[in-house]
Amino acid sequence: MILKNKNGLSFYQFPNFSRFREIIHGVFTRESGFSKPPFNCLNIGLNVGDDVKNVHKNRRVILECMDGLQPVFLKQVHGTAVIKIDEQSIASGGLPGRYLEGDAMVTSLPGIMPVIQVADCQPVFLFDPTGKVVANIHSGWQGSIKNIIGHTINCMSVDFDSRPSDIIAGVGPSLGPCCAEFRNYRTEIPKQFWKYEIGNRYFDFWSISRDQLIAAGVLPENISISGICTFCSSDLFFSYRKEVTTGRFAAVIGMA
Ligand SMILES: [Zn+2]
Repeated sequence: MILKNKNGLSFYQFPNFSRFREIIHGVFTRESGFSKPPFNCLNIGLNVGDDVKNVHKNRRVILECMDGLQPVFLKQVHGTAVIKIDEQSIASGGLPGRYLEGDAMVTSLPGIMPVIQVADCQPVFLFDPTGKVVANIHSGWQGSIKNIIGHTINCMSVDFDSRPSDIIAGVGPSLGPCCAEFRNYRTEIPKQFWKYEIGNRYFDFWSISRDQLIAAGVLPENISISGICTFCSSDLFFSYRKEVTTGRFAAVIGMA
């Protein structure tokens, strides 16, 4: 990923996304926000114990940095619900103001910015440049097991007519195989995923995501994995595993 700086904020971008002019995206670090330790500094998570006023200030500076697109947040629950953001869901008054339960958002509307809140789980961006459809996914280890990536691509295909072979994908900073230890994997992780154990109870969830993207029809050359481990880089990113009481960083994508 490439480190950018705007309005004094640092954020990472995927080169395979930034070559599209209509795409506005970024994975923000924890730097430069208003929150005090242990939520220092750019925490966007409201329900982690941080001062709500500071969280809203942090969210505001991120939105300004992203050209003022209209944000949509979810109540992320490690499930498989994919939320469609379309004219109907906006007209019904549900979005974007309300927090729906879900772990992925899909939209073809310009001006809308799905926001995923992250501390170790994988933020996964998808973009169909032909149909002009974006998705933002929250895939922790439970989301990986439930294949929230596959559910989201299915939604893009069925409801937005996207062809998976057109879709580009980016897997953002998250818990790497270096730090994803599952001591109780025999009870927590289904057997079909045991082949992703890289030794000594450590699992490679980045490879799981890559394989799930490919299984859903995304071409290998269209997949970019940041390779940044949040636990190893907890000076830059929030890591739930490392710090437990901590903030959430922002992974955002939308179309201008
Ligand atoms: Zn690591």
